[in-house]
Amino acid sequence: MKDRYDVIVVGGGPSGSMAAMFAARAGVSVLMLEKDREIGLPVRCAEGVGDKGLRSVVDINPNWIAQKITTVKLISPAGMEVVIGTDEVGYILNRKMFDPGLAELAAQAGSEIITKAYVNGLLLDNNKVTGVRVRTLGREFQVKASIVIGADGVESRVGRWAGIKTWEKLNDMETCAQVTAQNINVQQDAIHLYFSNTRAPKGYLWVFPKGNGLANVGIGISGEASRHKSPFAYLFEFLQTNFPQAAIITTVAGGVPCAREPEKIVANGLMLVGDAARQVNPVSGGGIVTGMIAGKIAGQVAGQAIIDGKTDEKRLAEYARLWQKAEGKKHKVFYKLKEFVYNMSDKDLDDTAKIALQIPQDKRTILQLFKTALVQKPALILEAIKVLT
Ligand SMILES: Cc1cc2nc3c(=O)[nH]c(=O)nc-3n(C[C@H](O)[C@H](O)[C@H](O)COP(=O)(O)OP(=O)(O)OC[C@H]3O[C@@H](n4cnc5c(N)ncnc54)[C@H](O)[C@@H]3O)c2cc1C
Repeated sequence: MKDRYDVIVVGGGPSGSMAAMFAARAGVSVLMLEKDREIGLPVRCAEGVGDKGLRSVVDINPNWIAQKITTVKLISPAGMEVVIGTDEVGYILNRKMFDPGLAELAAQAGSEIITKAYVNGLLLDNNKVTGVRVRTLGREFQVKASIVIGADGVESRVGRWAGIKTWEKLNDMETCAQVTAQNINVQQDAIHLYFSNTRAPKGYLWVFPKGNGLANVGIGISGEASRHKSPFAYLFEFLQTNFPQAAIITTVAGGVPCAREPEKIVANGLMLVGDAARQVNPVSGGGIVTGMIAGKIAGQVAGQAIIDGKTDEKRLAEYARLWQKAEGKKHKVFYKLKEFVYNMSDKDLDDTAKIALQIPQDKRTILQLFKTALVQKPALILEAIKVLT
């Protein structure tokens, strides 16, 4: 490790690796620091991504994929299965392969990478971030950089150290519990999403198959709801009822920020990407691809900013603007939709499913379902107006 780089990326998840790769491709020196011993472990994720989004950032390596997905099934509280008509292909990844694969791409582009390197503070000079303090191999180092990119995930502290407000309301932090289990005998190329305000309050349960009967089965509920009953209690009830034969291989818990974006994602010498910048779809809780898109934009802007010799907040705000254009507007709409969907009662969900099943499958889009819910339940129109205006 040198004592100075153009760009330091904190965190070696998908967002960090993409930021490192695109900055390095611009020809500047990049160091990526990861606190865990191995990139990609532990896996705290259901591993679902869409083909189009992923392909917009990287060429897909078949080794990353556990299962191709062609079908989306929404399951109502009473058990009605609504298959959504979609041409979009998706994947259940193998993040144990995917995350290191992305880090390898960053390294091939010229980034240095150090694991077991815990960043425990920023270097600040005159209201500008000028580097990081990092503990590795039992020693503490100060490493200088013109730009630090915080890609340190949901528990991010980098933004806070620079004075950016990144904390969330309890209701906007989904608490998740998940098992990876064998003997989950569902259609292998379909993801299954179970909605019910009593079985998964302000969230949903999922079954994401990984092939040959293996699947990620999990739940995300609002932090507020989890104060009354833990996500694991809901999940084990679900498993007992729906998959009593499940043989559990791994169990994980984790948080997903399903929140509004922070007011600022840049400061003098600093950028935030991925979960650290709350760039997660607030309805689905998916943050892999959005984080990678943000990483790509941030890396490109950081590289050019270094070449231009300007790394103040005003210059780095180009990243925030481009992010808004690419994904930020959608994020705002999804945040409002989340309020609407998660406030539907079990009866509303069942009524909507009943009507949806009368629509031909190839015309049954998510938007169509939303319209059905509104037409069917005039009372929901008021709710929708409240959240969407
Ligand atoms: C149960 C669960 C299921 C999910 N399912 C899906 C899904 O199906 N699809 C989807 O798209 N998203 C899903 N997500 C969300 C997804 O996992 C995240 O949005 C995604 O991993 C964000 O990537 P990231 O690079 O921003 O952060 P992370 O992947 O969290 O990477 C951050 C990295 O920073 C490192 N780090 C943190 N602090 C420091 C420090 N101080 N110094 C050095 N390194 C540090 C961490 O060790 C970590 O490796 C799920 C999340 C959970 C919890």
